[in-house]
Amino acid sequence: MLLLDRKTPKSIIIIEALLRRLDANDRDFTYFQDYLTRLKYGYEGEHRVDREWFEMPYLNEHYLFFNYEIENEFGFSHQVDTVLLTKHFLLILEVKNISGRVDYDEQKHQLTRTRPTGTEDILTNPFDQLHRHEELFQRILSKLKIFLPIEKAVVMANPSSIIGNVPKSPPIFHASGLRSFIKKCLVRNESKLTTSQLDKLAKYLLSNVVTRDFDLNISVERIRKGVLCENCNYSVVMTYKRGIWSCPQCGVQSRKAFLRALDDYRLLISDRITNQEFREFFHVESMYASSKILSRLNLKTVGNKKGRYYIIPEDILNR
Ligand SMILES: [Zn+2]
Repeated sequence: MLLLDRKTPKSIIIIEALLRRLDANDRDFTYFQDYLTRLKYGYEGEHRVDREWFEMPYLNEHYLFFNYEIENEFGFSHQVDTVLLTKHFLLILEVKNISGRVDYDEQKHQLTRTRPTGTEDILTNPFDQLHRHEELFQRILSKLKIFLPIEKAVVMANPSSIIGNVPKSPPIFHASGLRSFIKKCLVRNESKLTTSQLDKLAKYLLSNVVTRDFDLNISVERIRKGVLCENCNYSVVMTYKRGIWSCPQCGVQSRKAFLRALDDYRLLISDRITNQEFREFFHVESMYASSKILSRLNLKTVGNKKGRYYIIPEDILNR
């Protein structure tokens, strides 16, 4: 049973908003473009591996957590790509979507990727990540007085990546090998938990999910203001006249563009906006007009008169 589904990471949503708003000549524009590509690539890989789970009838009673995030007792966060909980074992999985060949040097704790062109780079080492997660789960289990073996593995999501010299343990294999790995784990670990213990542990894990915030720390001055025209690839600022946002370049009229801009404001600056901040960001001069625009959205407000601010909800795009 899937207890925690994988959602588009906040980092992807926020960087997409940033790239709409960052000047193409900004010193970090290509850096964020590359960063977004990497994040999307990783996310796609995780999705590819997720599909494998739904063809394992022999799993019986189990709980799955995709992208399990938790904070440890020291205040540091753990982000585990997949956690599988069964009566036999708890499995933690790191998913890697890598093109080229990977080799791991155990002495140096170094994961090297060699691209088909021959260039090499060093990647985040999933083995140390797994060990760190394992220690946390060991502490959780002993706190709950539950005895359950912990299994761990690294799964390669890209079928064309080459797994070179790597340690035997923890195992690293292609996504197609996940099913036989799970079968082996079921055979070597006998059932340890009752259904109620399993449920209790699942409930504990779910109730301790802490989603990390993603903060870019970009100064507001670097972000382009206004409602941007989607039709013009967000390069043109739309103008507001008599209740309508329209593009001075292509002539398109769009309310959705306005909602998108409000959502960008929420993602990049704040989910709270005052009338004055609204006028500044959206280039609306009249206080009366901006009050009208904001009140039409039926947003929740806090405070009154000068100190009043509106709260931009996460579902603003559907208003
Ligand atoms: Zn346009």
